[in-house]
Amino acid sequence: MKILLVFDFDNTIIDDNSDTWIVQCAPDKKLPIELQDSYQKGFWTEFMGRVFKYLGDEGVRENEMKTTMTSIPFTPGMVELFNFIRKNKDKFDCIIISDSNSVFIDWVLEAANFHDIFAKVFTNPAAFDNNGHLTVENYHAHSCNRCPKNLCKNVVLVEFVEKQLQQGVNYTQIVYIGDGGNDVCPVTFLKKNDVAMPRKGYTLQKTLSRMSQNLEPMESSIVVWSSGVEIISHLQFLIKE
Ligand SMILES: [Mg+2]
Ligand SMILES: [Zn+2]
Repeated sequence: MKILLVFDFDNTIIDDNSDTWIVQCAPDKKLPIELQDSYQKGFWTEFMGRVFKYLGDEGVRENEMKTTMTSIPFTPGMVELFNFIRKNKDKFDCIIISDSNSVFIDWVLEAANFHDIFAKVFTNPAAFDNNGHLTVENYHAHSCNRCPKNLCKNVVLVEFVEKQLQQGVNYTQIVYIGDGGNDVCPVTFLKKNDVAMPRKGYTLQKTLSRMSQNLEPMESSIVVWSSGVEIISHLQFLIKE
């Protein structure tokens, strides 16, 4: 019996947002105002598609993007956490559910040699086209009205857990580690034995504390963290129970 660890990517595994970090590749490290202003709420993937097209048109090539992306620092304690998980592989399965894209996440995990930690990465599929433009698509379509059009992390999580169950893998509990507004949906569906781990000072933690002040019911326990080392401590506590 294993524990399922669900990771967000931006501002959770890495200590910044990959989609804004990549703007460092742009001339003067910024986007033209028209492009910046073209974002429409709920259509982030489409916006990033335009950003990647702009970078490609400006002559930014794959290698430069990769070098920039792999220079993002990991969040404090994350490397220690992944090493801890690797040593305790028999006790944990790990997945990433992220609104970044498959190319960025692959680069980061590959450069740090952390691919083996994760059983599966769920994110918007991306690839370079013949013109050298990075293209990105929506992960899926869903009918959750709380989430952006391209990704409901709760739908992904529920589908993964069901699929695993069909394969005979039943998790004792789910630990969800994240920071952002799009982590709220999956976290509120966690069950009594599960643990929500919001990053201290970020949107997810602020939203959860507002919800508890409003006495909105939540089944899972909440453990706030600032460093991956604190996550290790809590996982050690869970596997000793
Ligand atoms: Mg995030
Ligand atoms: Zn949702």
